[in-house]
Amino acid sequence: MTFAQLHLHERVLAAVQAEGYDTPTPIQQQAIPVVLDGKDIFGCAQTGTGKTAAFALPILHRLAETIEKGPRVLVLAPTRELAVQIGDSFRTYGRNVRFRQVLVYGGVSMRPQIDALRRGVDVIIATPGRLLDLMEQRAVRLDRIETLVLDEADRMLDMGFIQPIRQIIAEMPEKRQTLFFSATIPDEIKKLASGILTNPVNVSVTPVSSATETVEQMLYVVRKDNKRALLTHLLNEDLEGSVLIFTRTKRNADRVAKDLAAEGIRAESLHGDKSQMARQRALDNFKNRKTRVLVATDIAARGIDIDTLPYVINYDVPDTAETYVHRIGRTGRAGSTGIALTLCTPDEQHEMRSIERHIRRQITRVQHHEFSSSESRPTAHQERREPRNSDPVYLQHGSRERTPRGGDGYGSRDGSGRGYRQETSSSSSGQAPRRGSSYGRNRRSR
Ligand code: AMP
Repeated sequence: MTFAQLHLHERVLAAVQAEGYDTPTPIQQQAIPVVLDGKDIFGCAQTGTGKTAAFALPILHRLAETIEKGPRVLVLAPTRELAVQIGDSFRTYGRNVRFRQVLVYGGVSMRPQIDALRRGVDVIIATPGRLLDLMEQRAVRLDRIETLVLDEADRMLDMGFIQPIRQIIAEMPEKRQTLFFSATIPDEIKKLASGILTNPVNVSVTPVSSATETVEQMLYVVRKDNKRALLTHLLNEDLEGSVLIFTRTKRNADRVAKDLAAEGIRAESLHGDKSQMARQRALDNFKNRKTRVLVATDIAARGIDIDTLPYVINYDVPDTAETYVHRIGRTGRAGSTGIALTLCTPDEQHEMRSIERHIRRQITRVQHHEFSSSESRPTAHQERREPRNSDPVYLQHGSRERTPRGGDGYGSRDGSGRGYRQETSSSSSGQAPRRGSSYGRNRRSR
């Protein structure tokens, strides 16, 4: 299928072509005709699938076709970063369409947002809290909204936005189109969706583990006191180009960024304690490659979309498999390949195994790296906690060992017997990726 077959307005099509997209992604193929048809959508899709264009392109098509008084479109997103990114996408895809948009999010002065709304806009892209504040001040009216988009609805629920969302929706016309996107579909999401959607068409493209298909993943078991040295070593010796590092806490993000800067590596941190300006600056610096390394916490990094990001490093093992998939999904986007490295202390191995069970993948252990230690093997305690036959993944992959030591037992990442290691020279021996090897180059297909 081509974009031309989707019958988008020629001005929208021209922008898509200028972006260099040849083929609509699966979510775009499914969603665009439905949105153009005016129907509601209940979509299960993560960032990285082309979801933003899936709703932005048909919305822009309508804005190009008809001129009405606004605001006509409201997009709700959980974080400022995601709102900014959605705004960038609307600007990019709508570069040939005459429309006005405003970004509405907290942490910055309300004044410019109020002024923009007064001047008149077609599209509002907002986080729920600030939008509600503006509604209470009567700075915005939603009675002309034709299309409502809820992006990352599950995250909005997690962040406690359910009430604001309900209050916002109560101010909108009942007759409208609603496009609801969520990466996961827990019961509360189903409940919320059923209350606000009318005869929705279900579109679903990405099982939670999808990023695990496109991203090459490796794991370094390392003692806690060696993590920093291993990280510096990887950045100095093995990896080339931009690296996004994840930590669990804001404090750790700051510390890692500071340590790297002290080693002469251009690094900045990104987390929720920073002002909106500082966050945007850190993100821009990273995107423009002024800084090479961005150290981020999970919420701050949610939805970060960087076209050519070759590496993600999990400095701390994430707390859930879902977070792991979201983190590694920052690289390997839209069909290109990426590499995710996880630094795991012996204590964190238990959590890592649980992640592996969830994503149904065995992550290649890099053997014999500079900072490996005998402590990387599971302790007797860990053995007792996880009896062998409770772990189907390990057995399924034919390994009788609890501790990966290289060799055949860990060759298959998909149960097909096709070896992970056969795909890349550096991982074929369980060795660290090397600069100048296939890992050192940008292996993106796009
Ligand atoms: P999203 O899921 O909206 O965060 O999009 C992920 C990335 O895919 C973004 O960098 C888009 O620029 C890119 N993208 C979206 N649609 C396409 C397409 N049809 N072909 C190639 N890249 C795309």
